[in-house]
Amino acid sequence: MTLNSVVVRYGEIGTKSWRTRRWFEEILMNNIREALVSEEVPYKKIEAMHGRIIVWTAMPAEAAEVLRRVFGVVSLSPAMAVEAALEKINRTALKLFRRKKRELGLEKPRFRVSARRITKEFPIKSPDLQKLVGEYVLENEEAVVDLRDYDVEIGIEVMEGKAYVFTDRIRGWGGLPIGTQGKVVALLSGGIDSPVAAFLMMKRGCEVIPVHIYSGERSLEKVRKIWGVLRRYHYGGKTDLVVVRIDRDTVHRKLREMKREKYMCLFCKYGMIEAADKVAKEMGAKGIVTGDSLGQVASQTLDNLMIVSRATDLPIYRPLIGMDKEEIVSIAKAIGTFELSSLPEDPCPYVPRHPIIRGSPGEFQKLRKALKERET
Ligand code: ATP
Ligand code: MG
Repeated sequence: MTLNSVVVRYGEIGTKSWRTRRWFEEILMNNIREALVSEEVPYKKIEAMHGRIIVWTAMPAEAAEVLRRVFGVVSLSPAMAVEAALEKINRTALKLFRRKKRELGLEKPRFRVSARRITKEFPIKSPDLQKLVGEYVLENEEAVVDLRDYDVEIGIEVMEGKAYVFTDRIRGWGGLPIGTQGKVVALLSGGIDSPVAAFLMMKRGCEVIPVHIYSGERSLEKVRKIWGVLRRYHYGGKTDLVVVRIDRDTVHRKLREMKREKYMCLFCKYGMIEAADKVAKEMGAKGIVTGDSLGQVASQTLDNLMIVSRATDLPIYRPLIGMDKEEIVSIAKAIGTFELSSLPEDPCPYVPRHPIIRGSPGEFQKLRKALKERET
């Protein structure tokens, strides 16, 4: 006997109106399909019922591993689906319990049974089913019931004539299915922060268009690898990395001539936002995402963020603005970008010795004008 299905549970969608819910479910199912196809996990059928999505597959463990990364999914359980009849449920529960017992290497595991009768045509009420299955397991295996401190939880969900029996509940990221919130452009460097920022916007249902400002081959290679990790959360999104080159040499030279080199980082960031704005407008994106975190470096002070934000009339989303480095790092580790982000990158040749910490909007505008007038 092998497992034949995955029970996929989702969260917030369930709280929306009936119509919105159908639409969300539809997108979530499409993203699930796309995830399984692109990771080459075969499946037979995907169906939505009673606030769950059932994926029928001969490879439930592999499917669960992939579907963990689909946003909107709150938890999943590789399951054995059988006819909803007490003897069948009993036998299945016992087999799965034995398997788990071996896996944990425990002589006498503590366990509980958690049953939910989701459609009511099944005659046994949930608490009674829990008791009956629990007794059956105790009659056949060394075990002890402990509702609070248990090693194994046997889950049973009964709906539409079938019982789904499982012993694992794997957590997903939650969030909303990608494609439900439209597109944003994310400025992606090879650093630790911006991949986390892009990830968090994906998690809330955005399709992300990653834009990298070219700063050397090593950095580009890094960013490609990082996007390779991020796109495995981007099922339902279609975009590839966009690489943009902006001229920083000229600005740098002129600022030096004017002895205002300390404004270089602001001009650089301003240029990046302008580039992102252009891509966003070409591709119909509704905002720009950056990995700024307040006060982290000189260019991320309130004064400087204010100056740089003028480069676009689109909203700029900064999901990390209130996070400490530690919090950002722990997300980067969990999603798998941290190691790649820690690889060496091309040093920035334009960084001045003393970058300005509190730029003046008036002076910045004056310098912008002066730079234009110097165009020769
Ligand atoms: P990160 O860890 O994301 O590189 P950082 O701490 O190095 O950020 P900055 O260099 O000030 O901080 O960059 C702030 C933000 O500007 C980044 O999070 C990213 O969104 C964007 N950015 C910086 N460099 C690039 C680049 N070469 N291409 C695209 N976006 C960039
Ligand atoms: Mg960086």
